[in-house]
Amino acid sequence: MICPFCRHDDSRVVDSRPVEDGTQIRRRRECPECGARFSTQETTLLNIIKRSGATEPFSREKVIAGVRKACQGRPVNNDDLALLAQRVEETLRSSGQAEIEAQEVGMAILAPLRELDEIAYLRYASVYRNFTSLADFEGEIALLRAVPSHALAEKNSPALKNAAPPAQKSSVKI
Ligand SMILES: [Zn+2]
Repeated sequence: MICPFCRHDDSRVVDSRPVEDGTQIRRRRECPECGARFSTQETTLLNIIKRSGATEPFSREKVIAGVRKACQGRPVNNDDLALLAQRVEETLRSSGQAEIEAQEVGMAILAPLRELDEIAYLRYASVYRNFTSLADFEGEIALLRAVPSHALAEKNSPALKNAAPPAQKSSVKI
């Protein structure tokens, strides 16, 4: 890692610790040239597999753009949308997968959107789940009435897969 102070092309890791439930690693580095210290953060690249099979990096902006239409005329502000997108990202990252189907992003939006605004949720679900009749709406509304929204959120329980670090090979030659 290049030193951001003097542009020296190497730096030494002096501390390394997991943060955010182990989904990120923060490292403290020191430049051997100028002695400056700086931090880096390592996180899994989260890619979304589109229906076409192409992949693209996860984007909170795309989540917000998708949900914003459903929220038209509803008492939902930009902060609400930013928080929703953050929760969607946290849910997806907590699955421990590096690549996620676009379909799963839609699924991860449903629970926090429902907590935010039930009308916006119904609009979004009607498009996302291809509602074709009044019966579809009636079924969804019956479900909304029957299942409290916190019960839905608990379905997305994080399942962290922490792979054991590879054993260090010691090859000391004298
Ligand atoms: Zn430096």
